[in-house]
Amino acid sequence: MNSGDTTTPAERLRLLHTEYLTPGPARQAERVTKSSEPSTPIRLGVYDHIKATVDELISLAKDNRDGRPAGPRPPRVEDAYRWAVEETAHLDGRRARVRDAVIYRQGLEHAILMGDSKVVRRHACPGCDTWGLIWDRAQETVVCLNRYCADDDGQHRTWTLAEVAEVHILRQARVASRAT
Ligand SMILES: [Zn+2]
Repeated sequence: MNSGDTTTPAERLRLLHTEYLTPGPARQAERVTKSSEPSTPIRLGVYDHIKATVDELISLAKDNRDGRPAGPRPPRVEDAYRWAVEETAHLDGRRARVRDAVIYRQGLEHAILMGDSKVVRRHACPGCDTWGLIWDRAQETVVCLNRYCADDDGQHRTWTLAEVAEVHILRQARVASRAT
């Protein structure tokens, strides 16, 4: 069940860009309900989110080129992922996991922005390893509902998306190393 997020970050970014950002009647026809038509403030939020995502991928690639210049980024936003991975293909071990965790965390952010906050439930809690993670929209944090995971005052343990992503990538790497 520890499958994590099975939709790629690139696919989610493409959806955000085409379905949530681009206005127009052609897009509206594709939507399931009229109520999902994004309002202007939502579009602005999505625009900022996409820009921040691509900016972070550019920084990630450039910071890991070890002094060598990065190649040109392809124009389509979703291709920024393929580009960032190709530009950092020499990374291995911990540095590769840091890169993969950034990309994975972005995928979780895309999902939550599109209303799919259930995506956090597909991860076991990094602390207690049980199923009970939920997304707290108000606090913008991941909460573990397992009361045995709570602190001495009964406060539920919380995690950032970055922490959930790092642990997921680490667990994946462990599974992969056992399989070889
Ligand atoms: Zn927990």
